[in-house]
Amino acid sequence: MQRNNKTVLILGGGLAGLTAAKRLTDRGFSVRLIEKRSLYGGKVSSWKDEEGDWIESGTHCFFGAYDVLYDLMREIGVYDSVLWKDHKLTYTLAGGGSFTFNTWDLPSPLHLVPAIVKNGYFSFGEMLAFAKSLVPLALKKDKYPPTQDHLTFSEWAKRHRFGTRLLEKMFRPMALALKFIPPEKISAKIILDVTEVFYRIPNASCMGFLKGAPEEHLIAPLKHYSETRGAEFTSGVAAETLQYDKGEISGVRLSNGEVLDADYYLCALPVHNLNRVLPETMKRERSFFGDLEKLEGVPVISVQIWYDRQITPENNVLFSPDGVIPVYADLANTTPEYRTLRGEPHDGKSRFEFCVAPADDLMGLSKQETIDKVDGDIRSCFPETSKGARVLKSTIVKIPQSVYAPLPDMERFRPTQKTPVPNLFFAGGYTQQLYYDSMGGAVMSANLASDEIASAAGA
Ligand SMILES: Cc1cc2nc3c(=O)[nH]c(=O)nc-3n(C[C@H](O)[C@H](O)[C@H](O)COP(=O)(O)OP(=O)(O)OC[C@H]3O[C@@H](n4cnc5c(N)ncnc54)[C@H](O)[C@@H]3O)c2cc1C
Repeated sequence: MQRNNKTVLILGGGLAGLTAAKRLTDRGFSVRLIEKRSLYGGKVSSWKDEEGDWIESGTHCFFGAYDVLYDLMREIGVYDSVLWKDHKLTYTLAGGGSFTFNTWDLPSPLHLVPAIVKNGYFSFGEMLAFAKSLVPLALKKDKYPPTQDHLTFSEWAKRHRFGTRLLEKMFRPMALALKFIPPEKISAKIILDVTEVFYRIPNASCMGFLKGAPEEHLIAPLKHYSETRGAEFTSGVAAETLQYDKGEISGVRLSNGEVLDADYYLCALPVHNLNRVLPETMKRERSFFGDLEKLEGVPVISVQIWYDRQITPENNVLFSPDGVIPVYADLANTTPEYRTLRGEPHDGKSRFEFCVAPADDLMGLSKQETIDKVDGDIRSCFPETSKGARVLKSTIVKIPQSVYAPLPDMERFRPTQKTPVPNLFFAGGYTQQLYYDSMGGAVMSANLASDEIASAAGA
């Protein structure tokens, strides 16, 4: 690799920052990355607790659609860590029972036929009404969702009259799983975009799980790749302010008082943290920066529960429209390296991880109150197998501001990776790219930001 004598300072060591470090190191830049926390990975971070069990910021499902993520994983030699599951989406219901959207291994749209005709829950009439509502999407394809960004998904669904049951049982958990906000808050654009991708690309809705902790199978290998090629990483120090001088960034003041400078600056921070480091003058001078204040993070809670028996054999992601667990998985089935408890084998017994949302009203609950709610929901979904089951351990992670909230009319405030300040660039799930705030989105944003930096440097 040829070095190009240009330096880049990356702020934030989440998936976007780490991907950009790799991309820019590959292109010959001298890269330094600053991470506020003591561990890397941001919202995909994972760590061992004092009993030796892995804790994750949240359950991470790998959608078939994220080609850019799999290219990256192949480049660093970890693609084989993704374990692909059967191509189906299963919904569990309060009181017991479930329904499943299966697919066939056929070209689009034939792959969706079994989901429509034999999901075992929605009537053919309901699915037909839904199919009719999607005619504009089928005709205009990806041009259609942006025209619906002014509506919430609930408003869109009412206008298209496809029925409350589909909205409540299928789309409520989908909206909550995707962005932790319900259909009456999420922009219709997001659900329509995802539906369009699922419709057009047969494998897009297939789900994978890592075979173990994201730290071991993605984050550490990604950092190691750049580190062994000269990139410098510093953790436990936060960027405090970007110094703005004569229309350019002249340095970054860190929480330890140091000031670092570089030829190019890449902020790979969550948008609420970015808003804190951007100088007020920049926000006043340019709406590009000032408008970022309109984007806010969504609260979410991740809960893990180990039981003394197997509650479900399901080796896949599960959705639930009822209660507070819209999306969850039994990691003892999906993630072989997680079949442990306190360092001992936990084979044949459940170890669930739940995404708890909407979390606005739950953030103030105690750990025990939250665990009781989640435990109650899982017992309601599996009344038979959970009878008499004991909770052996539980953990909880609260994230007050996680992914940005894609509310109606927010799309226009998502910034591009290139900013009006020539040596300042942005990356992160909230910036403009196809996959919103997701792992695919973080990687795609970093690819785009790296291209922009390379182009600015004439590299
Ligand atoms: C519970 C949960 C479940 C999820 N599930 C999925 C899923 O199943 N599939 C999927 O694709 N996506 C999922 N996501 C979304 C995905 O994790 C994120 O979209 C993605 O990781 C965002 O990466 P990022 O690098 O843009 O931001 P982040 O991961 O937030 O990284 C930003 C980094 O910047 C650091 N930082 C902040 N302030 C400063 C500062 N001042 N100075 C220096 N560093 C700073 C942070 O500590 C962090 O490490 C989930 C998210 C959560 C919270």
